[in-house]
Amino acid sequence: MLGAPKCTATRFLECIRATDSTKLWHAALCLILSLGVGCATAQREIADKPAGDPSLTRFEFSQPQMGLPFRIVLYARDRASAEAAANAAFARIAELNGILSDYDSDSELSRLSQTSGTGQEVILSADLWKVLNRAQALAKKTQGAFDVTVGPVVNLWRKARREQRLPDPPRMAEARAAVGFEKLQLNQRRRSARLLAPKMRLDVGAIAKGYAIDEALAVIQAHSLSRALVTGGGDMAAGDPPPGQPGWRITLAAFDATNAPPTRFVQIARVALATSGDAFQRLEIDGKRYSHIVDPRTGLGLTDHSLVTVIARDCITADSLATAVSVLGPEPGLKLISATSGTDVRVVIRPENLVVVHESPGFSRHYPSVTEP
Ligand code: AMP
Ligand code: MG
Repeated sequence: MLGAPKCTATRFLECIRATDSTKLWHAALCLILSLGVGCATAQREIADKPAGDPSLTRFEFSQPQMGLPFRIVLYARDRASAEAAANAAFARIAELNGILSDYDSDSELSRLSQTSGTGQEVILSADLWKVLNRAQALAKKTQGAFDVTVGPVVNLWRKARREQRLPDPPRMAEARAAVGFEKLQLNQRRRSARLLAPKMRLDVGAIAKGYAIDEALAVIQAHSLSRALVTGGGDMAAGDPPPGQPGWRITLAAFDATNAPPTRFVQIARVALATSGDAFQRLEIDGKRYSHIVDPRTGLGLTDHSLVTVIARDCITADSLATAVSVLGPEPGLKLISATSGTDVRVVIRPENLVVVHESPGFSRHYPSVTEP
């Protein structure tokens, strides 16, 4: 069901909170989006665009999807065409949730997990194939730092957060035996999957939201509305910018520490941005902070307290890379980004008490800070 649409002024503030208790997939992030003034890179990008088009009106829609607040901002000539596009986009996200959710025991993903250990080959839908194929490519590239077979271990950490105590070592050993991307076998020709070990559970929480955001933007564009922004939690995909503007102005998610770097505003158009971090989904025991992102190679929740923002050509790439870089850490993470064309990354990390910022060389060049709206 579509949430009440509202037409706002040129600026809005949103604060999105994701909590474990409402089975959310992503850390909570605060975003400020507005129609801003130009920055050098973005202005160059749209130099050939006409100035503001008075026939276009800004529309904004929001709806909970995938256990998260999703938002669509778009420009259209009239409310009917704006609503038709937004409705279709939300319907596409809901459809993808029915395929990709690991909470819904009837989703295609869960039904695939239920075949684990039987040796059964399962032919996949186009959507599940695309997500698993991308996930496995990244798993290979990161030697398993990114791994959608991590489900059994993630489930133990979800339970640990509910009970506020660390996972049981024997259960962790059992869970880890069911994890490993090489135990998920894909057949490229038949577009099928086979789960080779018993008790495997696939969890595409680190990549599916990005795919859903891309698909929602594509649906809006197929309705001939090019000036649109789709956000889900803190991740987003931007189409063409608002009329007469160089880009969509956003704030990078704030780092949760007293000595954090100042809030930073950038402008984006025709790219996607995703953020991974432990700001809200985490477990704290004896002063140690364990993220909802786990290192599949150890079974442990990350403890280095980081916030990773990736900008890429699409959100499936940005989302999956943000999680992968979180696990890899700054140096290998930056190498991964430099080996992936069209991507930039910003990592804020506090291993001890010192906050350190690492950026890919192109990050500030492509996305320079702009002033607060
Ligand atoms: P994100 O917020 O996009 O970084 O995704 C985090 C979610 O991905 C977690 O809540 C888990 O469901 C799942 N996950 C955790 N660790 C990993 C990992 N190393 N590789 C892939 N998915 C993971
Ligand atoms: Mg992710």
